[in-house]
Amino acid sequence: MSPVDEKLQPILTEVLRRNAGETEFHQAVREVLESLGRVVAKHPGYAENALIERVCEPERQIIFRVPWVDDQNQVQINRGFRVQFNSALGPYKGGIRFHPSVNLGIIKFLGFEQVFKNALTGLPIGGGKGGSDFNPRSRSDGEIMRFCQSFMTELHRHLGENTDVPAGDIGVGSREIGYMFGQYKRLTNRYESGVLTGKGLSYGGSRARTEATGYGATYFVQRMLERRRETLEGKRVVVSGAGNVAIYTMEKVLAFGGAVIACSDSGGYVVDETGIDLDLIKEIKEVRRGRLSEYPRLKGSGAHHVEGGSIWDVACDVAMPSATQNELSGKDAVTLVKNGVGAVGEGANMPCTPDAIDVFQSAGVLVAPGKAANAGGVATSALEMQQNASRDSWTFQRTEERLAEIMCNIHDLCADTAEEYGAPQNYVLGANIAGFVRVAEAMRALGVI
Ligand code: NDP
Repeated sequence: MSPVDEKLQPILTEVLRRNAGETEFHQAVREVLESLGRVVAKHPGYAENALIERVCEPERQIIFRVPWVDDQNQVQINRGFRVQFNSALGPYKGGIRFHPSVNLGIIKFLGFEQVFKNALTGLPIGGGKGGSDFNPRSRSDGEIMRFCQSFMTELHRHLGENTDVPAGDIGVGSREIGYMFGQYKRLTNRYESGVLTGKGLSYGGSRARTEATGYGATYFVQRMLERRRETLEGKRVVVSGAGNVAIYTMEKVLAFGGAVIACSDSGGYVVDETGIDLDLIKEIKEVRRGRLSEYPRLKGSGAHHVEGGSIWDVACDVAMPSATQNELSGKDAVTLVKNGVGAVGEGANMPCTPDAIDVFQSAGVLVAPGKAANAGGVATSALEMQQNASRDSWTFQRTEERLAEIMCNIHDLCADTAEEYGAPQNYVLGANIAGFVRVAEAMRALGVI
């Protein structure tokens, strides 16, 4: 961790006091404030009128009860959240997460990251995030539907295509978005396509949205490597997770000629030196909704599964953590560096701990931070909103070309900003500063908001 500039330290102290116990939120704010020292030194105006303090305080935080009835006719209660963090650039935009670990601090960290990420896309979207401590694992389809309907029964009053537009995240895919959109439509009696993104193609979804986060992260890493006159071709790549982001990261890495040799889920990781069979992973995770431990038996030979453990023990050239926050520790980073890793692309949000980032940067390993590298998902969500608003539907190719262009622009913006602020190749700093400047400029123009 680098020190926070002395002018910004009181802001961090106040964030820690006012948001006691919200450790992930503290971590996300600290990382951004560490980067902003260079900005206020160059442009002191950004430190005036409590601008940075306002950036760190959500505009609105909604917490609500989600009652629903399970298959045994028992009433269950979960807690729902929506944090509408910043709308200076456009309507709040950010996913919904269903996972038992969800609490206010996690949703606030994700919402805070989302503000800068959305700014980096250059598209007119503000930042927000939501979710619930509901655990979808082992729940029947009927239970998932009743939960989603109850969740939306409260949330709908806070949404709108010009107000707040959620999407998916961990535990929320196209099935859940469908149930939530159906309930929103019923409650409002409006076919407001642009109120949710990640929709199915049969009712207003965008082609390439499912693939967008993973594809986008891979485009970012490829461009980052190209600056070093390298590419993904022939590289050994390890991708953690086996969900939406991980699966489409693996798909694009393979398309670029890389070899994916390991992936994981919350039960452990699978290593396949002959190259991960992506069709089999899709069959296990997307169709059967099963466990990766089944992979070696179904594959036949060449693979083994490690229960628990750390996927980062597997030697690779490129690591793409794409499961969840703080999944790659300082110790894991030391192991990866020892084994020769050259680049890290964060598909997940904040998957590397601050210690891990320090280890990578000291060793000269390129790090693509999540708020830049995984912005392809939200960027394509904004393209979905654009298609909905114009009652249009683009081809896969057109959408993917736009995604690739946006990712290249984000990469170049981060790289150029890092250089401008005296830290070449520090993409973490470049992303934080470039995202902040865009939001700060809009906020200054809008008065004290
Ligand atoms: P999914 O639910 O589709 O997949 C998550 C994967 O990570 C699963 O394989 C899951 O394992 C594993 N996982 C989740 N939590 C843990 C944990 N605590 N420990 C170990 N493994 C875990 O989610 P997504 O792929 O959508 O999201 C992954 C990450 O990417 C998140 O950080 C999310 O915020 C971020 N992201 C997602 C975007 C999107 O468009 N979906 C956009 C931008 C960022 P299991 O199968 O066992 O549950």
